[in-house]
Amino acid sequence: MRIRLLGTAAAEGWPALFCRCPHCARARAAGGRNVRTRAAANVDGVYQFDFGPDVYHHMLQGNDLSAVVHLIMTHSHADHLQPSDLAMRQPPFAHGVSGPLHIYGNDRVLARIRGPHGDAEHPGLEFHLLEPFTEVGVADATLVPLLADHDPAERCLIHLFGRGGRWLLYGHDTGYFPEETWAAIARWAAGGARLHAALLDCTAGPLATRRGHMGLQACAEVRERLLGMGAADAASRFVVTHFSHNGGWMYDEMVPHAEPLGFAVAYDGMEWDA
Ligand SMILES: [Zn+2]
Ligand SMILES: [Zn+2]
Ligand SMILES: [Zn+2]
Repeated sequence: MRIRLLGTAAAEGWPALFCRCPHCARARAAGGRNVRTRAAANVDGVYQFDFGPDVYHHMLQGNDLSAVVHLIMTHSHADHLQPSDLAMRQPPFAHGVSGPLHIYGNDRVLARIRGPHGDAEHPGLEFHLLEPFTEVGVADATLVPLLADHDPAERCLIHLFGRGGRWLLYGHDTGYFPEETWAAIARWAAGGARLHAALLDCTAGPLATRRGHMGLQACAEVRERLLGMGAADAASRFVVTHFSHNGGWMYDEMVPHAEPLGFAVAYDGMEWDA
């Protein structure tokens, strides 16, 4: 399973759109891995997680959107969903793209994309409603949507995604996982499955946040529990992502804190075989 992190920032990006804080100034000056766009990821070319306001930039960076057939959504927040750009997949805005784009999401996500006029406006899109804890097939992959602790206004999801015997936990946006999600992970692991990669919400960096989003300490607790219950093992790669400037750690400052806790630090364009 080839995982490519397209964006690794929280809602405002880092440097943030309108921000004059010292952390954004440092990121602007340092560049490189300190410049983060809004979070999304591509898996094996045809699967993409989330479709936020930086998808055009990600395309310029080499993400072939015309090859994406399955779009798996976490929730409807604007940093994860920019519905208007989905219209650009149709003629006269795009040519040579065959077949529909399958979109998997909760009711709020699908309603935001459909808009007031319904499916007629979106002839190239096929919608698939996700329910928490109800496993679905996504072409030759398997998706187990899990409930996040993020925004009570909608049923925000994180995902277990399996393909070819390899498993990814797409674990943001969320706080420390709800107990019903832990129970679902335990059921999944009882079948013998193990995580090969886990992306966790580290929006708050060094801060003690654990509801809605997490900081590094809460991420470490999630990792320890996954290892302890046998859902992950020494070969599982844990990666923290979705960073906000309010945390303040530049990439090089975060690595010495994250590595001893068993985490790699995400950056835009990070890519590996899980
Ligand atoms: Zn977000
Ligand atoms: Zn800032
Ligand atoms: Zn969110």
